[in-house]
Amino acid sequence: VTLEARHHIQVTHFHRHHPFILYISIYVCVCDAFEVMAESYEFSQCDGQCLAFRRAASVLKSVPWPVERLGAATRLPCLGEHTRAVMEEILQCGRSFEVEKILCNDRYQRLKLFTSVFGVGPKTAEKWHRGGLRTLNDALEDPGVELNSMQKAGFRHHGDISRAVSRAEALALGEILHQAALGISAHAVLVLTGGFRRGKEFGHDVDFLLSTPEQGKEETLLLSLVDSLRRQGILLYCDHHPSTFDINNLPGVSFEAMDHFAKSFLILRLEDRQVEGGVQRPEGQHDGRSWRAVRVDVVAPPMERYAFTLLGWTGSRQFERDLRRFARKEKRMLLDNHGLWDKTKKEFLPAEREEDIFAHLGLEYLEPQLRNA
Ligand code: ATP
Ligand code: MN
Ligand code: MN
Repeated sequence: VTLEARHHIQVTHFHRHHPFILYISIYVCVCDAFEVMAESYEFSQCDGQCLAFRRAASVLKSVPWPVERLGAATRLPCLGEHTRAVMEEILQCGRSFEVEKILCNDRYQRLKLFTSVFGVGPKTAEKWHRGGLRTLNDALEDPGVELNSMQKAGFRHHGDISRAVSRAEALALGEILHQAALGISAHAVLVLTGGFRRGKEFGHDVDFLLSTPEQGKEETLLLSLVDSLRRQGILLYCDHHPSTFDINNLPGVSFEAMDHFAKSFLILRLEDRQVEGGVQRPEGQHDGRSWRAVRVDVVAPPMERYAFTLLGWTGSRQFERDLRRFARKEKRMLLDNHGLWDKTKKEFLPAEREEDIFAHLGLEYLEPQLRNA
């Protein structure tokens, strides 16, 4: 069932004969409904409400019993009045009128379409919508729209980038990047992070962490890596952010999610033959090409920050948010991708491995597979 089709599942059809399917589809419906609500609030820049629905979806995913029995969902944490109302409507009627109204809403549909382009955020999408643009072609053809190089690349590879990346494709890219990194330095360390490290089978991009025990050489290594990919002819786009990391400025005023390490947001060309087991294109997507474009993120922290960056980039976003909140509220500690600051002791706590960070927080170590909140 495709993501789009899922919204239209008539759960009541399954009700009598397949109680198990009913459970799955209600579960999927409620989570998807919450995601639509969150997105719609995101488009309106209502961060609080957006987060409330994202968090509620996370909570639902972690509940070990069928949502049908959540009639008394009152005691579930993080379910506010609004989230509960949407869920109960779906449980009772099989659909939510509020969510359906959003799905049919012109503005929502256009913002969703525009933000599907790499480099187009909610603000640009809103501007285009206000300017009367309706389709991606409108944005390409309107003389009033000036695309930056990221958006141009986003449009050029829109089809490929909108298609999920498989685990086999992620591993193939890991192999290519690994070989390229080792060609530059025998000490280079490259690890897969993000959703694929959490065991996900599909992702919207592939995330890597690159480092080296040679102090202060990580950014040069990243630049050389990108250069090597360019020379191999597989670099389709690169947006490089130089490091702004300065240990003396930490902890900063706000311990934000974004970090200061050197990083590159890339689009790479992956040949079908490089993917183990070959590539199966969905019906109707055979355009004669034997390659696809993939979004790849690479972050390059210094080795002594490795554990913090690995923990931060492994995600999920909701897991990171909860972990940071726990550190702040329960431990009087500030955690981010750079380090862990103990407000009581007024010092940074060292960590070589993720395990050390969990130990500092007094928590049992959680394998990446258990961080899919
Ligand atoms: P998906 O399959 O959608 O890619 P994901 O969990 O890998 O899922 P990403 O958006 O790739 O999602 O992000 C992975 C992790 O990296 C998240 O925990 C996020 O907080 C972190 N992250 C992403 N971009 C940045 C950035 N620019 N600066 C700091 N951290 C980032
Ligand atoms: Mn990712
Ligand atoms: Mn990413």
